[in-house]
This record gives sequence, structure tokens and C-alpha cells, in this order.
Amino acid sequence: MNYKRFIFAVIILMIILLGIYFINGDQLFNDKDKEVQKAEGTEFIMNTFVRIRIYDKNSEVILSDTLQKLRHLENIFSKTIEESDINKLNYNAGIAAVKVNKHTYDILKESHKFAEMTEGSFDPTIGPLVSLWGIGTDDQKVPSENEIRQVVGKVNYKDIEFLDNNRVFLKKRGMSLDLGAIAKGYAADNIIEYYEQIDIESAYINMGGNVSVYKRKVDDSLWKIGIQDPDQSRGGIIAVLNIEDTSVVTSGNYERYFLKDGVRYHHIIDPETGYPAKNGIISSTVISHDSSYADALSTSFYILGVEKSFDLVEKLKDIKIILVTEDNKAYVSEKLKAKIEFTVDELEIIYR
Ligand code: AMP
Ligand code: MG
Repeated sequence: MNYKRFIFAVIILMIILLGIYFINGDQLFNDKDKEVQKAEGTEFIMNTFVRIRIYDKNSEVILSDTLQKLRHLENIFSKTIEESDINKLNYNAGIAAVKVNKHTYDILKESHKFAEMTEGSFDPTIGPLVSLWGIGTDDQKVPSENEIRQVVGKVNYKDIEFLDNNRVFLKKRGMSLDLGAIAKGYAADNIIEYYEQIDIESAYINMGGNVSVYKRKVDDSLWKIGIQDPDQSRGGIIAVLNIEDTSVVTSGNYERYFLKDGVRYHHIIDPETGYPAKNGIISSTVISHDSSYADALSTSFYILGVEKSFDLVEKLKDIKIILVTEDNKAYVSEKLKAKIEFTVDELEIIYR
């Protein structure tokens, strides 16, 4: 080979190598001699866009298993899918017990625990009130006081009876279950448990405001998770959390609501009054290793208000909170101080 040809071959080889690097550079990580591939997917499941990122040798397979598991849980938990366990239970309320999937039995048991823990602020039998208000549907309306009074009587988690053999009985006619405040958290826990079992490298799951991260990022840095600003006129985020192996769940009045005569009627309903919760809070975020806790409690804290929420947090392990109030204050667990950076000036930050 003459000299010119040799130089030409070297240049061609360099171009090819550079090409391979640019095509795969974003997807290829050399982590302790393992070839970690990134797989990414978005799908509409459980009424929200679920976004998943997996980092592992077998990321594509794990992503497809993850989506399949989530679809399965949606099929048994949804109130609108005819064959779901929840629909069967609602249909048979006051009539007969229903044998349900182990996941349905477990999520109802957990829901019952959260209802007791929050003195009924969280109530999985909220269905009749959710239907009456119809918030986020074509039938949304402000019901009459009389209608509300009648329906409030049908909401009571104490009327769920747990029987042997994964059977559940809703004791009263007209009762109905709605797992909208916990299903995503339960699902995220189920997926993270699966990642632990097969020991994957790293993962990020975002189910419309419910974020769970598994381990650290592949470059060993912490995940940066934004906390959405409930004041939509500002838009964006209020803070960034630096986390690993954690779930961050936010409930807010901006997610699903309608305005009538200047009043915002949103989707988190106080089971005691039958009206959308109004206790000064406009967004409630819970940070916990356990996403079911984070999901159920973020909804509950919205209803309980600042003082009762912090009282409950003190009694629990591994629960940290950020409560934003309508008077532009953010009440934040002291334990988050080292992990959080606020990005707006308008909020008065109160650690406690
Ligand atoms: P989240 O977005 O997790 O706060 O859940 C809100 C959803 O949970 C609503 O859209 C309803 O489906 C349901 N929900 C509303 N109020 C309650 C409540 N007090 N307890 C349990 N679930 C509720
Ligand atoms: Mg919730």
C-alpha cells in the first residue's frame, strides 16, 4: 500500500469510528465492564402518560416487561374497564363478595390502612363523590347540597369487608371504589420490586407527576427531579430534588379542575364534607422510598392541611413533605434541606 492510500484508509477508519460513537454514544455506557444500554418508552396507561427509562444490559426486554406489568395492573384496577376487579366489586356492592386478583386484594388492604392512618381523609370508597362531581369529564358540575349529603353517606372505607381466599365485599348498595389516588404508587412499587429482583443498573419511571427512581444514574450522580409549580401563571418548577432510590409524588389542584363563578373545583375531595378539599394547600409533595405511601399520603395531606400533615409525618418513618399553600409559602421537612434547591423567589420557605 502506498503512503497516500494508507493515509486515506486511516481517515476513512476514523470517520467510521466517529460515526459509531455519535450514533451510539448516548446509549452506550461502560459501567464496570458492563455494556449498559438505555431503553426509553412512553405509553398512556392509568389515565396518564407513563414515561420510562431503563439502563441495563437487557433494557429493551425489561422495558417491555415493565409496560406489560403496568397494563395488567391497569386492567384489574380501572373503574372504567368492564372486566376489571374494581368494576366487578362496584357492580356487586351490597349484593355479593367478589374473588379478586392478589394485587387487588393487597391494594385494597393498603388503602384501608391509609384510610385508618389519615382518619378517613384518604378513602378508597370515594367513588360516588367522584362520579357526582364528574371533574375532568363532560358531565362535571357543582352538585346541589342535597345531592352531596345523600352521596357522602355512601363513602366509608369501614364498609369494605375482607374475606378469606382473596374475596372482598362492599357492604352497601351504591358504594364504589376509586383507586385514582393510590394505583400509580402501588404500580411503581411493584415495578421497582421487579427491578430489585432482577438487579438492573438504573431506572426512571414517571407516571404523570408520580416519579420513582431506581438506584442512581448510570454515571453515579443523583437524579434531579423537578417539583411542579402549582401556580400556573409562573409555570415550570418550584424546586429541584437530588435523589436516589426514591419516589416523589405530587398532588395538586391544577391537575384536574373546572372554574365556576371564580371558584376552582378540583379533583381531591374531602370525604367528610363531600366538596373539593379546601385547607389552604395548593400542592402537596411526598418523598418516600415507598411509592404507595407517597401517593396515598400526598392526596391525604392535601385534605388534612399543614398542621395535621406534619403531625402525621412525625409519627412515620421515611416520609418527607413539601406543602405549598395559597399564601405563597412552602412548608418543607427539615430532612430535605440538603437535597433540595428552590428555583423561585416568590415562595417563603419554612423548614420544620
Ligand atoms: P392524586 O392525583 O393521587 O392526588 O389522586 C386524586 C384522585 O384520587 C382523584 O382524581 C380521585 O379519583 C381520587 N380521590 C379524590 N379524593 C380522594 C380521597 N379523599 N381519597 C381517595 N381518593 C380520592
Ligand atoms: Mg395520590
